[in-house]
Amino acid sequence: MNKISVLGVNFDNVNMSEAVDRCREFLKGDKGNLIVTPNPEIVMRAKDNEEFKNIINNAALVIPDGIGIIKAGKILGTPLKERVAGFDLICNLLEEGKDGSISFYFWGSKPGIADTAMQKVKEKYPNIKILGAHTGYFSPEEEEKIVEEIKELKPDVLLVGLGAPKQEITINKYINDNIFKIGIGCGGSIDVLAGEVKRAPKLFIKLHLEWFYRLLKQPTRLKRMMVLPQFVKEVKKSKKG
Ligand code: UDP
Repeated sequence: MNKISVLGVNFDNVNMSEAVDRCREFLKGDKGNLIVTPNPEIVMRAKDNEEFKNIINNAALVIPDGIGIIKAGKILGTPLKERVAGFDLICNLLEEGKDGSISFYFWGSKPGIADTAMQKVKEKYPNIKILGAHTGYFSPEEEEKIVEEIKELKPDVLLVGLGAPKQEITINKYINDNIFKIGIGCGGSIDVLAGEVKRAPKLFIKLHLEWFYRLLKQPTRLKRMMVLPQFVKEVKKSKKG
C-alpha cells in the first residue's frame, strides 16, 4: 500500500474516487475498518500521543483532510494526490447509500444535533437507511448502552464525531466486535449535516482557505490553530533530518 509519512503519521496516497473505492471494498468484507481523516492539528496531537499515533497507523484508511497536509507532502518531496476531506467522503457515502443499500448510524455532537442531522439527511434522501443517532456527550455507563444499541442495529457505516483522539480511540475499542464495517472519526461533520455549522463556500475551498473561513466563523478555534506554525516548522525540520 502506498503510504506517505507526515511527522510519523502515515497517509494513504489516494484521491477521492480511490477512497470511495476502498470504502466499497470495506462494505463487501466482514470486518470493522477504521477511517481517520487527519488535518495538521490532528497530526500534531498524534505526534505527542503514541497510543493515538499507533491507532492511526493501524487504521484501514488514512486520508489527508486539510490543505496543510498536502503542503507538507510537497515540502517533504513526497506529494499526496489531493486533499480528501472527511466531510466530502461522508457525503459521497451518503449519496452511494441513498437507495437504502448502505446503513448508517450517527454518534456525536451536542444533544439533539445527531437527530437533526438524521432528519435532514432523510429529507434529502427519503430511502436512505439511518438506523439511529446518539449525542456525543455520555457517561461510561451510557456508553455501554449506546454500544449495545449499535450492536443490535449493526450499521454498515458508523459516523463518530467526538473530536480527536476520543472518536478514533472509541471506534478502535469496538473494531473487532463485528458491529460496523466502516467506523469513521468525523469531527464536526454531524454538526454540518445538521446545518448547525456551515461548510465554507466553494470559493474558499477552491482557494484553499477553508481553514480561514472556519476561523472567522468560530474564533475560538484560534487557540487550537496556534499549532499550525509549529507544524510547518516540524515538517521542514523533518525534511532536513
Ligand atoms: N464532541 C462530542 N463529545 C465530546 C467532545 C466533542 O460529541 O465529548 C463533538 C463536538 O460537539 C463536535 C465534535 O465532537 O461536534 C468535534 O468537532 P471539532 O470541530 O473539534 O472536530 P475536528 O475539527 O477536530 O475534526
